[in-house]
Amino acid sequence: MTSFSRIILRTAAVLCLLPVGLTGCKANGNESPGAASQPPLLNTVASATPQSADDAPPPEKTGGFDGKLAFAHVVKQISFGPRPSGSQALMHLQYYLQSELKSYGCNVETDSFGADTPVGRLPMKNFLVKIPGEKPGVILLGTHYDTLLKDNFVGADDGGSSTAVMLESARLLCPQHGNYAVWIAFFDGEEAIKQWSDTDSRYGSRQMAARLSASGDIKKIRAFLLADLVGSRNAHFMRESTSTPALTELVWSTAAKLGYSGIFLNDVTSVEDDHDSFLKRNVPSVDVIDLDREHDVPYWHTPQDTVDKISAKSLAIVGHVFLESVKQLQTK
Ligand SMILES: [Zn+2]
Repeated sequence: MTSFSRIILRTAAVLCLLPVGLTGCKANGNESPGAASQPPLLNTVASATPQSADDAPPPEKTGGFDGKLAFAHVVKQISFGPRPSGSQALMHLQYYLQSELKSYGCNVETDSFGADTPVGRLPMKNFLVKIPGEKPGVILLGTHYDTLLKDNFVGADDGGSSTAVMLESARLLCPQHGNYAVWIAFFDGEEAIKQWSDTDSRYGSRQMAARLSASGDIKKIRAFLLADLVGSRNAHFMRESTSTPALTELVWSTAAKLGYSGIFLNDVTSVEDDHDSFLKRNVPSVDVIDLDREHDVPYWHTPQDTVDKISAKSLAIVGHVFLESVKQLQTK
């Protein structure tokens, strides 16, 4: 499975992940420019929350994580249109991320960099929320927030869902202080610009891992928990085989304790994603991603990756598992 997935990933196409057959993606560059800088969130919540938000469990059942708020973050991201790296729409999302994070009291560092891609140098931005802790050591959470460069692709699940989960997690975590620092990374440029390869993909996470290496901070990271494609109405997550086994076990056993063993399955799969950039630098890392293209994410990397595919309940369950996993890691 592993090598098969990788071969397909390397040869077949663009994109972030998924082991099974991929589509290519062509450059376009005529993404629609969404609205200019947006006010913090939830004027959209009450009004624009479609049916799919109705399945959100109450926050007190998911460790405070509000699935409806997370769902509204997906709606908001889509409102900017397709959001490939270097696009104006992505700039609008960057303003939104910064303004939301600031409104939660988060300390956010921005790294603006130029990435050499097959279509030339593109401006990219990583954001890193830093929540201090008492002891040395960092627990890192992460997501990519760019979307695949493809006509009419708005990435409700691929890009949108995990970014929403990290925003809602930041709202809850930024006011807290634990044993260890918690950092939350928002990566630009996860998607390939032309065709997925080691040099055309994961631009943002490679940049952040390199910078943290240069500063020596990477040694402080005790665990990296990555989310990607976590919002499907029919979400299931398999253990990702290149991830650090002990960390996978921690997340999956946490999910089981919370009653989610029907969603966090014990089957094994393999995928290339932003966790690779940290695994390569010996950071224990785990990727939580829905790769079941047949049943769960048939819309993967197609224009059908739209908001109607997203469930507030799935977002809330993943948020709950991430928050509880952070709690577990804080005791170690
Ligand atoms: Zn993707």
